[in-house]
Amino acid sequence: MKTPFITKAQADSLISQFPTPFHLYDEKGIREKARALNEAFAWNKGFKEYFAIKATPTPAILKILQEEGCGFDCSSYVELLMAEKLNAKEIMFSSNNTSKEDYQYAHKVGGIINLDAYEDLELVKEALGELPETMSCRYNPGGVFALGTDIMDNPEASKFGMTKAQIFQAFKEMKEQGVKQFGIHAFLASNTVSNDYYPILAKQLFELSVALVEETGVDLDFINLSGGVGVNYRPEETANDIKVIGQGVKAVYEEVLIPAGLGHLKIYTELGRFMTGPHGHLLTKVTHRKETYRTYLGVDASAVNLMRPAIYGAYHHITNLDRPDGETEIVDVVGSLCENNDKFAVNRELPKTKVEDTLIIHDTGAHGFSMGYQYNAKLRSAEVLLQEDGHGRLIRRAETPEDYLATVSGFDF
Ligand SMILES: *Cc1c(COP(=O)(O)O)cnc(C)c1O
Repeated sequence: MKTPFITKAQADSLISQFPTPFHLYDEKGIREKARALNEAFAWNKGFKEYFAIKATPTPAILKILQEEGCGFDCSSYVELLMAEKLNAKEIMFSSNNTSKEDYQYAHKVGGIINLDAYEDLELVKEALGELPETMSCRYNPGGVFALGTDIMDNPEASKFGMTKAQIFQAFKEMKEQGVKQFGIHAFLASNTVSNDYYPILAKQLFELSVALVEETGVDLDFINLSGGVGVNYRPEETANDIKVIGQGVKAVYEEVLIPAGLGHLKIYTELGRFMTGPHGHLLTKVTHRKETYRTYLGVDASAVNLMRPAIYGAYHHITNLDRPDGETEIVDVVGSLCENNDKFAVNRELPKTKVEDTLIIHDTGAHGFSMGYQYNAKLRSAEVLLQEDGHGRLIRRAETPEDYLATVSGFDF
């Protein structure tokens, strides 16, 4: 069962203030999630979550996470700009295919450069004049990443990170060229709904750390487990238990790092989806019903507001707030783009729905608004924060036609 974090009365009140569609975020849920993560890793003295800004690049949400002790993981100029505006003291720059200007800006705002490519060492030197005191390297072991017999992802085909040989070489050169403190990072599987992903990844990275320190003699400071802890989008899936995950990583830490004399290493994470995904809803109204070979429910949101179903075939649960129970029917829930993949649900069993009903699309707090786009000259929706006091606050207004046309040259709209 998936239950919305608002009641029908709350939704009605919010919709009277903010026209649908809009993204709604639950402040209480986000704060509780950050606290649970920090508690789960409290056994590690230097633990730090660097929230992956790309998941929810909305300053009001970033500020909440910052208040809960999170730093930020950035990968682009404007993400860095937002982190700087928030006076962030802890910034990780886990970029790829990176420009000289972005390296310069990341360094200027105090970000740790997490190097994706061995070849970029030269570029970083050129950009900054010398290598920074602290640097990290992103590791890609190749092959497939499996949990038991389940293949979770395919690092071999991933554009990210450097090979084992490259990371040893990079560490040696970086040390010779004045880098004092080192970190390693890997992101080997996305959206894992399993308490085993982090511990298994940690074991690989911890063993690599022992070998790196032994062979290169560097002062390793942190191990960054990155993102990848996922969301139970489907009602039959069980949510990851961050406490169990923290204990799983601790067990491997005690098994591998402590005996090797590396019990001072800090654990970092760069979670995005896990932190905010479940704490967002997309609120949309049913505007049309159409019967052809199937039954279509047309809603006022479209794939521009939430792209995951269209590009990944991703499942997002839907609740009809007006009729949560009762007799059901099989429907496709669709937007208004001139694109047949503009569907939030395909052959979904939902309570018999009427025009004007309010639907909640669940788990849209991460990679939702942020992946939005403007196809069909559709405008980006508003974002609203459900504050802990129960009030809704507009944290990003909806775009206007003037916003959409503001960058056009040669015409005056
Ligand atoms: C996307 C990304 C993350 C966050 O991933 P989630 O799946 O949202 O946890 C973290 N680090 C890097 C480098 C990323 O690209």
